[in-house]
Amino acid sequence: MVVVRTIFESSRTNSGGAMAQWLAEQPKTIVVQPTTLCPMDCTYCYLLERHLKQEMTPLVASAIAAGICPSWEPVEVVWHGGEPLAVGLTRFVELLQPFESLRRAGRVRHKVQTGGGRPITDAWCDVFEQYEISVGVSIDGSRELNHHRVDRGGNPMFDRTMASIATLKRRGLSFAVLAVVSHDATGQATRVLDFMRELGTSWVGFNVEAKEGANSHGQTPSIDDARQFWRDTFEWCRSNNDVTVREVANLFGFLGLTQEQRDADSRHDPIPTIAWNGDVVLLSPELLGVRSTTYDNFIAGNVLVNDLPAIVRRADELQYVQEFTVALQTCKQTCEFFSFCQGAHAGDRFFEHGTFAATETDHCRNSVQAPVLALAELLQAKESR
Ligand code: SF4
Repeated sequence: MVVVRTIFESSRTNSGGAMAQWLAEQPKTIVVQPTTLCPMDCTYCYLLERHLKQEMTPLVASAIAAGICPSWEPVEVVWHGGEPLAVGLTRFVELLQPFESLRRAGRVRHKVQTGGGRPITDAWCDVFEQYEISVGVSIDGSRELNHHRVDRGGNPMFDRTMASIATLKRRGLSFAVLAVVSHDATGQATRVLDFMRELGTSWVGFNVEAKEGANSHGQTPSIDDARQFWRDTFEWCRSNNDVTVREVANLFGFLGLTQEQRDADSRHDPIPTIAWNGDVVLLSPELLGVRSTTYDNFIAGNVLVNDLPAIVRRADELQYVQEFTVALQTCKQTCEFFSFCQGAHAGDRFFEHGTFAATETDHCRNSVQAPVLALAELLQAKESR
């Protein structure tokens, strides 16, 4: 499509070794799994060990905090699960302690992403305030649209999640929302977004359902359905500026860059993701807990025995990282969406194709290509009026 080519001239000009070209040495985000346990059983969940109660100890948290280098930019520490609140308030506060000097120095910012599997109480709100923790809540939309999010008995989580959100609002705490777009929601963008606005959030990120980890049976939306979702989302955003939609903001942010800015460093964050026992995987948090003899379960090291910066520096020794960089090269040479996408996510390639050397995936079709095509369609329609 001409409009797409015009606005997405390929931009990457980095040179040097393959790893240095594609992967940043300094993470901006560290994902920490305080527990594998999740009391919920969402139909699209990718976590294989969500029924197991395996909890991080303060010793592991101390090793993570000790590995955050003074030379790194401020790092976002994302507490993700399982259900991070399922570790319990007392243990969670114990896990925060090793990061305290870093947080006070402005070198660490905490974020917690809760699926609503444990109620957010006033005591939790006290902790969020005291440790300046940003809160993200997972909810897909109104009661009918949230039907994939259920507990282990198959009972809807909607009322419980809304009760947690009500507590956050009563306490005056802002919250972001992550929502999964399943195939049955692609025609419902306006309803979903109206719901989010009424919910009181100012930031929404949409994850179009994809086959990942334990969710190998899910029904991935088609690219045409995804295009409709993004077209409706762009239209909604034109008349509603009180909610930022991550994907819309990212695309418009990119389009607003000069060529020089597009050529600036946009290497992939290695996103070290640290399991309850200190094991580290790189590139995609979804790889944590996934078994693969080919890729040695994706384990890059363990913070109890390896220095975290050294684990990141040695990323190029990992077969899956090597394959990913080859795929990025192919993406750059063959795909017209590359300058915006920069090769998208590593994990989706493995989950869909069994190798990191693959290029196109459902994720990149539905979450990168579809929004671009939807915007191009809207621009063309406007031009031809
Ligand atoms: S990940 Fe997909 S959209 Fe991105 S450059 Fe590669 S093939 Fe293109």
